[in-house]
Amino acid sequence: MWNTFLAFVITVLLEYFVSNGPEPSSECRILPQDDNWPKKNIWESFNRSVDGRLIRTIPIGTPCHQENFDLEKCQYVQDSWHEPELHLASASSMMDFIFANKSCDPFTAKTDQCIVGTYVQYAVNVSEVEHVFKTIEFVKQHNIRFVVRNTGHDFMGRSTGTGAVSVWMHHLQDMEWFENYTSSTYSGPAVKVQAGIMGYQISEEAEKRGLVVVVGECPTVGFAGGYLQGGGHSFITSSYGLAADQTLSFEVITMDRKLVIASPTENEDLYWALSGGGGGTYGIVWSVTVKAFLDLGATSAYLSFTSDGLSRDEWWSILSAWNRGTPNLTDTGIWISSNYNLEHFSFAPLFAPNHSIGSVMSLLAPLIHLLDDEFKVSYNFNIEHHDKTPVSSQEMDNKISGFQMGGRILPRSLWDSDESFEAFMGVVKVILEGGVHSIWDVAMRPTMEVAGHPNNAVHPAWRNAERMFNPTL
Ligand SMILES: Cc1cc2nc3c(=O)[nH]c(=O)nc-3n(C[C@H](O)[C@H](O)[C@H](O)COP(=O)(O)OP(=O)(O)OC[C@H]3O[C@@H](n4cnc5c(N)ncnc54)[C@H](O)[C@@H]3O)c2cc1C
Repeated sequence: MWNTFLAFVITVLLEYFVSNGPEPSSECRILPQDDNWPKKNIWESFNRSVDGRLIRTIPIGTPCHQENFDLEKCQYVQDSWHEPELHLASASSMMDFIFANKSCDPFTAKTDQCIVGTYVQYAVNVSEVEHVFKTIEFVKQHNIRFVVRNTGHDFMGRSTGTGAVSVWMHHLQDMEWFENYTSSTYSGPAVKVQAGIMGYQISEEAEKRGLVVVVGECPTVGFAGGYLQGGGHSFITSSYGLAADQTLSFEVITMDRKLVIASPTENEDLYWALSGGGGGTYGIVWSVTVKAFLDLGATSAYLSFTSDGLSRDEWWSILSAWNRGTPNLTDTGIWISSNYNLEHFSFAPLFAPNHSIGSVMSLLAPLIHLLDDEFKVSYNFNIEHHDKTPVSSQEMDNKISGFQMGGRILPRSLWDSDESFEAFMGVVKVILEGGVHSIWDVAMRPTMEVAGHPNNAVHPAWRNAERMFNPTL
């Protein structure tokens, strides 16, 4: 009896929701299918208010589907899909394909759906502060989801949103250098960049001035957005800390439509939060000023070999010896991106600021001895000294949308005892034998000391870190 009654109630409720949909709640943002989604004339008037810079987004996979199918254009999208530049140029595309939720996937059948879906519906191509103010006003008035977008690099898809309007900051491209910036906390070279500047643009200009700035290894990652606000690691992180550790001052737009300064002496809490507390959370960064450092040159090295001819035990001995030894390198300011599975090992690169080739070779001597003398492994090795430090590298930027990764920051304490180190290697074995594609394992050491004892929102785990450890699928 009770079951019959329950089934009746569920059926009635289901019928109600299927026919009427849930009551719109003011807590939920409205979506394009809702009655109160703005009509065409409202969008037109909004477009006028932002000087005609409103873009109605079109997914970049559109030429691969249905009546819009165009073989040549579709082929181009498919061929360029793993290049950041394809997505960078778009007002809505994101580099981590999972978050597109197959809304308009260029690799699915021609007859499959191509909808805006999880891409933002509209983007405002911002060139003035007023455009951000107007967009905030508009989305608040209509209860529409609001997103800040810079390059679309975010691994968590945080620069997109279903039914959203975004402020697209990518075309804000001013950069200003200071030979001797002075504030209450710092005196020295610095650079102020607008929100759309990418890491490689800073590096190129820094190089002309004999300076280095902590920017991403991958050249096209934005600087002032998710990168710096999320921490931001770099080839030179073991020497100077994270990007968030370098901040001197922000110009930031708050959701109550004010452009304010956030620095160690003005709006200190906002400054603290923006320096490592996560992008798209505390305000819309218009510009950031960061420290620059004298370029002391660097040495980079590349090594790769396979497990051909080695027993599994020998392979584990090599991986174990390598992993055990990285603290000797990171403690001298070195950063290393290694990648390994059961068949191959590489580091590409090992990056050593303010090191000569000789000093890197002597630090690598135990590994080279192991490969040459103990296991007779043939390997490719290349080492080069740079008078001008190449802080971002083209080679690091071609791997988007091809894999899924997640990981952990590994504390240096794992290296404190044989027991904890062996436990770590036990986990590495389980992961690799479990069939992951590989482990992307970045050794770096952004301690408080190298970072200059900043007071910011960077996750404290970074301060004792030895690795950013990412199994990839
Ligand atoms: C190919 C590739 C290479 C990478 N290389 C590195 C690397 O070398 N080092 C490293 O540390 N990380 C790296 N990352 C990770 C990268 O730093 C993060 O994905 C970061 O979130 C990207 O920031 P973005 O602003 O460029 O991207 P977006 O996707 O545009 O934005 C990311 C987040 O920041 C917010 N945001 C953007 N602009 C602003 C703004 N002006 N104000 C407020 N919030 C804003 C967005 O709302 C979103 O939440 C890489 C990622 C990829 C895909």
